[in-house]
Amino acid sequence: MKHLIVANWKMNMTGPQASAFLDAFLDERFPESDVVIAPPFTSVAQVAARLRGTSIAVAGQNMHWEQSGAFTGEVSAPMLLDAGATYVILGHSERRRLFGETDANVNRKTKTALTNGLTPIVCVGESEAQRDAGDAVDHIVAQTRAALDGLGRDGASKVVMAYEPLWAIGTGKNCHADGADTAMAAIRGCVDGLAGVRILYGGSVTPENVAAYASKPNINGGLIGGASLDPVGFANLIRSAYQGS
Ligand code: PEP
Repeated sequence: MKHLIVANWKMNMTGPQASAFLDAFLDERFPESDVVIAPPFTSVAQVAARLRGTSIAVAGQNMHWEQSGAFTGEVSAPMLLDAGATYVILGHSERRRLFGETDANVNRKTKTALTNGLTPIVCVGESEAQRDAGDAVDHIVAQTRAALDGLGRDGASKVVMAYEPLWAIGTGKNCHADGADTAMAAIRGCVDGLAGVRILYGGSVTPENVAAYASKPNINGGLIGGASLDPVGFANLIRSAYQGS
C-alpha cells in the first residue's frame, strides 16, 4: 500500500499564493506516494483545475452533512465534488475545539461524504490533559467508534483515519513515532480486519522526522499542516516519507 501524504493548508493561501506554490511544487513527480492537497474552500476549484491530469488529488477541509439548504457559510459534498475535490478532512481538532464540531456531526458528515463518493479523512486525537491522565487510547478509540458508527464494513473500509494528538499540532512537539504507532494500533483495532484502511499521523511532521513515522507498521502516511506550506520543503517531506517506508 502506498503512503498517503495530505497537505492541510488550513486558512492559508490566497489564489495567487496557491498558484505560486503549484508552480514550484509541480516541477516534481511523486510516483511512490499518494498526495492530496487540502486548500481553503476559495481555492479548491482553482487547485483542482491545475492538478487535473496529475496524480495529486484535492480535499476540502470540512463540509456540511446536508446536500443543500439554509446553512449560511457552509459547503456541501456536491459542491466539493463540483469544485474537483475527491477527499474531505472531517473532525479536525481545530474544528472540534474552536467551532464546536461533535462526534455525532463527524459521523453524519462521514456518512454524507461516503454517500457522495468523497473519501473522508477522519481526524481523532487526545488533548495534553487526556494524555497526562492516561486516557489517550480510550479517547481516540471512542472518537473512532463514534465516527464510524453505522457505516458497516463496506463504508468503514473506504475511510482514511488520521491520528493527531492535539498537543502535537502546530507546536513543534511531535509525538514519538513509537507512541504514535501504539495509539494507531488502537485505531486499527476499531477497523479490525479492514486491512486496506490507511491511518495517517499528524502533528508537527517535518522533512526531518517523517521517515521515523513512515517506517512504523501502523502508520500509512501523514497529515501535514505547517510543513505543507512551502513547496520545496513539502516535496522533500514526501520523498523522505517514501525513503522511510
Ligand atoms: C494539522 O493541522 O493537521 C497538523 C498536523 O498541523 P501541523 O503539521 O502544523 O502540526
